[in-house]
Amino acid sequence: MSNDRFQADRESVLFHSKRMWEAGLVVASAGNVSARVSGHNAIAITPTSVSYDVMTADQVVVVSLDSGLPIESKVRPSGELPTHLAVYRHRQDVGAVVHTHAPYVSTLSVLRRPLPPIIDEMIVYFGGTIEVADYAFTGTDDLGANVVGALGDRAGVLLSNHGNLCVGSDLAEALHVALTMESTARIYVESLRTGDPVVLPEESLKAGRAMYEKRRRRPR
Ligand SMILES: [Zn+2]
Repeated sequence: MSNDRFQADRESVLFHSKRMWEAGLVVASAGNVSARVSGHNAIAITPTSVSYDVMTADQVVVVSLDSGLPIESKVRPSGELPTHLAVYRHRQDVGAVVHTHAPYVSTLSVLRRPLPPIIDEMIVYFGGTIEVADYAFTGTDDLGANVVGALGDRAGVLLSNHGNLCVGSDLAEALHVALTMESTARIYVESLRTGDPVVLPEESLKAGRAMYEKRRRRPR
């Protein structure tokens, strides 16, 4: 197993998947994680229907971005593969994708309510309001198209009645976005429950957005 040419890529996807699971952003085998494979036009993505507590690196599936088919696999890739492929094909700056069913994020997705700019750090890390992608059934090409449209140039998007999808230049960054988005969604849901949330002033949006764009342009 150690001479597998994709071993490091598989290990990294597994490591960050387990961190997503340990943080409570998903339960059992829900959600999925992928990353571009260095030196190949391909991604490594978590398998379908394998719980994170027993998932192993050799179960992470390497898929061609050209054909959308597995290059090497012992198990089938995540059923959300079409959505991951759509994001990588439309966003060259994206190196990794984390898709979660985190509770507060999913609450907003069921309400089909965007996550507005309420905390400084979300502008810096997300690039602005997190929009809601129109509903389409899980795993369909329609869902991929809806996600790409609502994601725009930002770092995340809500999926109607489902969860969210977060992106980054690498796995650590995409996971950081997912963790920050769940914490921000929790603050927003709690503030809706207890009063009327106030969004940030325009000048803060501009300052945060400038920082986001600077971060996105940095060399990888
Ligand atoms: Zn899902």
